[in-house]
Amino acid sequence: MSADVVALLRAALGEKVDVSPATLESARADKSGHAASGTPLAVVHAASVADVQETVRIASATRTPVVTRGAGTGLAGGANTGGGEIALSLRSMDRVVEVRPDDLLAVVEPGILNADLDRALAPYGLWWAPDPASREISTVGGNIATGAGGLLCAKYGVVRDAVLALDVVLADGRLLHVGHRSVKGVTGLDLTSLLIGSEGTLGVIVGATLKLRRRVPGEAQTLTATFPGVREAAVASAAVTSAGIQPAIMELMDAACLAAVHTLLALPAPLAGAAQLTIQTDGPASHAEADEIAAVLVAAGGDVRRAADPAEAELLWRVRRSMHPAMETLGTTLIEDVSVPRSALPAMFDEIARIERTYCLTIPTVCHAGDGNLHPNFVFTGPDVPDVVWAAAGKLFQAALRLGGTLTGEHGIGVLKRRWLRDELGDDQWELQRQITRVFDPAGILNPGKVFAQSPDE
Ligand SMILES: Cc1cc2nc3c(=O)[nH]c(=O)nc-3n(C[C@H](O)[C@H](O)[C@H](O)COP(=O)(O)OP(=O)(O)OC[C@H]3O[C@@H](n4cnc5c(N)ncnc54)[C@H](O)[C@@H]3O)c2cc1C
Repeated sequence: MSADVVALLRAALGEKVDVSPATLESARADKSGHAASGTPLAVVHAASVADVQETVRIASATRTPVVTRGAGTGLAGGANTGGGEIALSLRSMDRVVEVRPDDLLAVVEPGILNADLDRALAPYGLWWAPDPASREISTVGGNIATGAGGLLCAKYGVVRDAVLALDVVLADGRLLHVGHRSVKGVTGLDLTSLLIGSEGTLGVIVGATLKLRRRVPGEAQTLTATFPGVREAAVASAAVTSAGIQPAIMELMDAACLAAVHTLLALPAPLAGAAQLTIQTDGPASHAEADEIAAVLVAAGGDVRRAADPAEAELLWRVRRSMHPAMETLGTTLIEDVSVPRSALPAMFDEIARIERTYCLTIPTVCHAGDGNLHPNFVFTGPDVPDVVWAAAGKLFQAALRLGGTLTGEHGIGVLKRRWLRDELGDDQWELQRQITRVFDPAGILNPGKVFAQSPDE
């Protein structure tokens, strides 16, 4: 049967069907550190909407699972393709189809990298605001399918705020256009929103009409503030928010993160226990806002440093950007992703400290403090997540939910968090959402086993 599927794909799509061992192996994993079991049947490198429709029609006729892939940078295992499955790569569909400065929109294919889109929009003085730290390596289609966030989203919004319309290939191969090009539009149910963050379970996104912004004028200002501990830093970030000043970026690194980055960059060791906020203001009021924020941080006990020029700002941001590489020097990393209301950040850091003590773990945590999205990192040796780490992660999720937060702020559920999904949704909503996936995909061929566990022990 699997040989038949590959033969059918080959007959329809020729050389776009790739069964080379290296390609099949790379389709098994994303950047979560988790890989699917077994080896995919084939990777289809779609070059057009017709290629996607052809692939999905064959999958539907043969009841073969299809896993859509962008660039495979996901952190939840959503794009991992296993035995008996087809990996459908959209990475080659990377054209900017249309840019309309007058309407502040662009129409793009899904495989374009976020940063390539940014470079294409720069000559028009426009930008697409979602800016995941992976922008140089992740696709716009993947950003939409995961509902990605980034550093600037406290001020400029997440993917959900920046998509007007989508072209989607359904599980039976039909092409659907949802949404609109107008600023306003409330006709019927909002299927565009439903598809954002659906992680490849409802359809294959083959085109996107994006809501753009004009580039922000003025010179951005950068400052850091160091505090004796992470709780003080979290309280200070909440004070900035409640003072009514809106930084473009406000990032928090706890002591373990700061120490690891300083070691990696060969900087002098930070004070023991010290945590740091790195903040950027932008726009015409950037100088005045940086002054106001500095005053709030000093009042909160921070040791504030203001970058004198772009070169010094770059040095300060280098510390934050080196977080992932620094973690990689410590071992294998499970990057978690919980979100809480901003006022609950200090309490969430208290919970993390409690979990560290209970499980005898260090959990280096970096946080988009401007919007309350924390990335606690579990570091371990070897390829498999130890049981103690999953137990601690489970406590972390429960704590975030208790504080009015959510299991995932921007990375999605994929395979890694599906066992906790019911805890947040409750049985009724879990079942309702499951039924919605069946309406889109009655045969269950689109990314099966992702987001929704197929059995309770998954
Ligand atoms: C160093 C690093 C930093 C990161 N920083 C951030 C960050 O700041 N913010 C953030 O949100 N994420 C971040 N991520 C996670 C990741 O980059 C995002 O989730 C990104 O949106 C995934 O895009 P991708 O193209 O790699 O998608 P993939 O990993 O290929 O796929 C992700 C999911 O989307 C589905 N999918 C992909 N394309 C389509 C499509 N066209 N149609 C339907 N379904 C599709 C897949 O099936 C899968 O479920 C980071 C990752 C790394 C490695």
